[in-house]
Amino acid sequence: MARRFSCTMCGRCCHGLRLPLSVAEALAWIDDGGEVEVFCEAVPWPEEPAPDNGPAWHKRKRSFQAMSGHLPVRVIVTLVATFDGACPNLRADMGCGIYERRPTACRVYPAEVNPFIALEPANKLCPPDAWETGGLFQDDDGHWTDPEVAAAVLRRRTDDYAEAGTREVLCARLGIREAGLSNEGVIVYTPSRDHLREVLKGTAETYKTPPRDDDWMLVSHRLRTMWLLESAGARATQAVELAGMGRRFVSFVQDE
Ligand code: SF4
Ligand code: SF4
Repeated sequence: MARRFSCTMCGRCCHGLRLPLSVAEALAWIDDGGEVEVFCEAVPWPEEPAPDNGPAWHKRKRSFQAMSGHLPVRVIVTLVATFDGACPNLRADMGCGIYERRPTACRVYPAEVNPFIALEPANKLCPPDAWETGGLFQDDDGHWTDPEVAAAVLRRRTDDYAEAGTREVLCARLGIREAGLSNEGVIVYTPSRDHLREVLKGTAETYKTPPRDDDWMLVSHRLRTMWLLESAGARATQAVELAGMGRRFVSFVQDE
């Protein structure tokens, strides 16, 4: 479905964000004094998807292969700039203080990076009038009509795919071996800014020597999920056991 859009400069998309970043963007964000966290989720992956299963191949490209006990999984790791309230770069006039070098994710909004997710205004922070005026934003074929938005979407997706291996090295360097079950929740790691900067700077050079220890623990807050995972041969643990250990479980679904 075609969509019209015009940014009203309301500034809502610059508040209380979880902003996905490339490795270079994460380093720049840390150097500017910002916080970057590491979000980890895993998908059971007993076999490769059918060639025409586009959503599964999208997920595969942005993840790396690992094991949880005897269960093959794909692990999706995301570097995320986190802040509550206004972004530290947001000016009083709602303009961006680092506009020329703002992260790609900021250039994408409110478009979608995942080509299998339809743009849904109700899921966006933009006010209703932003969707009632302006030029064509997305055409009937799903193409983003603004060349800058289209380029940003492509770049965010390309970085996501290209850096999956780098993020595997990052996890090994940080000792990260726990992940939430995809669609249920994520484990959020909060390394110190200095440690994360040091490790991120080293990941590019060591990318060609991925770690051998790839046994991951899957974390859930649902007993039934844990039972299913263990039945499938995975290592699983309860989310409550992570409290106070430098990482936390963030749920996408309610407890049972
Ligand atoms: S970097 Fe700029 S565009 Fe991105 S969230 Fe912050 S203020 Fe908004
Ligand atoms: S929330 Fe939407 S309308 Fe408001 S500043 Fe962000 S992109 Fe523009």
